[in-house]
Amino acid sequence: MSTPEIAGETGPDVSEALRVLHRVFGYDSFRGSQQEIIDHVVDGGDALVLMPTGGGKSLCYQIPALVRKGVGVVISPLIALMQDQVDALRALGVRAGFLNSTQDFEERRLVEAEFLAGEIDLLYLAPERLRVEATVRLLERGTISLFAIDEAHCVASWGHDFRPDYLALSALHERWPEVPRIALTATATEATHAEIASRLKLQDARHFVASFDRPNIQYRIAPKDDPKRQLLHLLRTEHPGDAGIVYCLSRASVDKTAEFLVKNDVRALPYHAGLDARTRAENQSRFLREDGMVMVATIAFGMGIDKPDVRFVAHLDLPKSVEGYYQETGRAGRDGLPSTAWLAYGLQDVVQQRKMIDTSEGDEAHRRRLGAHVDAMLALCETVECRRVRLLAYFGQKSDACGNCDTCLTPPESWDGTVPAQKLLSTVVRLKRERNQKFGAGQITDILLGKKTAKVIQFDHDGLSVFGIGADLREAEWRSVARQLLAQGLIAVEGDYGTLVLTDESAEVLGGRRPVVLRREPERAAKAARAERAPKQRAAPVDLPAEAMPVFESLRAWRGATAKEQGVPAYVVFHDATLRAIATLCPSTLSELGTVTGVGENKLAKYGEQILETLGTGTGSATGTGSAAGAGSVTGTGSAAASPA
Ligand code: ADP
Ligand code: ZN
Repeated sequence: MSTPEIAGETGPDVSEALRVLHRVFGYDSFRGSQQEIIDHVVDGGDALVLMPTGGGKSLCYQIPALVRKGVGVVISPLIALMQDQVDALRALGVRAGFLNSTQDFEERRLVEAEFLAGEIDLLYLAPERLRVEATVRLLERGTISLFAIDEAHCVASWGHDFRPDYLALSALHERWPEVPRIALTATATEATHAEIASRLKLQDARHFVASFDRPNIQYRIAPKDDPKRQLLHLLRTEHPGDAGIVYCLSRASVDKTAEFLVKNDVRALPYHAGLDARTRAENQSRFLREDGMVMVATIAFGMGIDKPDVRFVAHLDLPKSVEGYYQETGRAGRDGLPSTAWLAYGLQDVVQQRKMIDTSEGDEAHRRRLGAHVDAMLALCETVECRRVRLLAYFGQKSDACGNCDTCLTPPESWDGTVPAQKLLSTVVRLKRERNQKFGAGQITDILLGKKTAKVIQFDHDGLSVFGIGADLREAEWRSVARQLLAQGLIAVEGDYGTLVLTDESAEVLGGRRPVVLRREPERAAKAARAERAPKQRAAPVDLPAEAMPVFESLRAWRGATAKEQGVPAYVVFHDATLRAIATLCPSTLSELGTVTGVGENKLAKYGEQILETLGTGTGSATGTGSAAGAGSVTGTGSAAASPA
């Protein structure tokens, strides 16, 4: 599909890029800075692209690879997904292949031959392959149009996905100084940005930084109470039958949570590094291919998962950094339709993370950095500001209150927590001074509440003068006070048991020189608000008129059968948004169908007739019956007739 006569000497041809966008991808226009980036790379320039998940990064290298002479080499760490990526391109009629360790010799040889003959336009490679001299020699014998370095944050040690193999990618520049490089990532704190640029030697490249906002994702953070139940409530009330990802910190809690969901009739699967490779691959494939699966996973899962219709991402534990959190939640709603990011966290999470940091490998500076990541995450959880404003500020971007996060939908009240803060801190002081003891938040709360638990009696804590001085607040409120003091740096947690200790700033509160403003948790607030008030900013979904609904359903049935027959995920055939647009337009000719966004030349040729048949609008199709019944009756044959033309 390359059009070599247009590239090279004659310079870039903007309209050729646009033609490819229409013809191959079936899209009307470029989004955001896609056009600029594509022009720059087509013209032979290096680029560093920071764009949020779902922003449309792939086109930024796929189109230049199609326009320029030679093969575009895409470096990606996601071996397990290469097959799907290549399948999706082939479904568009793009000639693509991959080389990785999952192939046998014959398969590899075939792809290598295609590469050398210029019979493919895109070649996906795992980074470790570039350390193999034979691969480098192979690349040197072919013609390369560009190098795309996907998931470029993997080169940064500051980030959370560091892959040593990425470090070697700086050599690309020396071996192929003429070939443009485009590095792309959805992770973009200033620190990561700078590290990518320097490690990949892209300082002189043009940097394209998109807005990181994902307005269709509703951000919500709740205190952890009974996390599995809270999750189930969310799924039942807001996301029944939806596909989603649930993140847990440990393998054990992944297994338990998946089991719990299955027992409660949610179609859920586990995913973590402790499962054997086959189970992992199978679960991933089911998540991608079947409708409405919930994946319960550690953060080992998700990078590069470009399933467009993930409707929610839930975190049952505090993530280790804001950067990781934003990337994980970004996996929701790539199709631009409304989606939820929900996080439950408690003080215990912080204790556990501190423990992990204390025992982690690496020097003191490294541990301090990890600690700073957790602090930033905690501050996000306890903010009274708009979550999105905080998130975007973390990536150095200014924004206004979003109207689509829990604090915007139900603004938390702030209240003067100076006295409760003093009570809690004095309890810590008394234990230390009078008994030379340290305790965690649980025991301290019990003392404040005046609860005669076994442990209180055992340590004779009911004899302390502070015993029962906090009976005016409920237990959940004391937990919230403790979390917020921690978030504000007014207490700290320490050691294996997460004992509370004073910080340098505690004295100011105890001495009455510093007021403490706290956030009051709105009770189950965001959920109620969501029902009453539509979020201000929502990506406009293609609204489906009631009469188009049965048509959409029959198109979906056709898509399901077609995808199954071809062994690809349903969205590789067509996205939901495209099916909705078809159902709404109800085209009666192929050329009319071709105007729908997402219907490119190849898919039109391959599926056009079947779709018209399914719609019951095509010239050759049977007449008459109402669209629903008519479409329904054709669906069966649709799948039978789905063999590629
Ligand atoms: P990223 O890699 O940045 O997460 P993708 O490249 O997967 O994002 O694109 C996200 C979605 O947006 C995909 O479904 C893609 O087909 C779609 N998309 C990208 N660019 C356009 C465009 N110009 N017009 C319409 N849809 C687009
Ligand atoms: Zn907001």
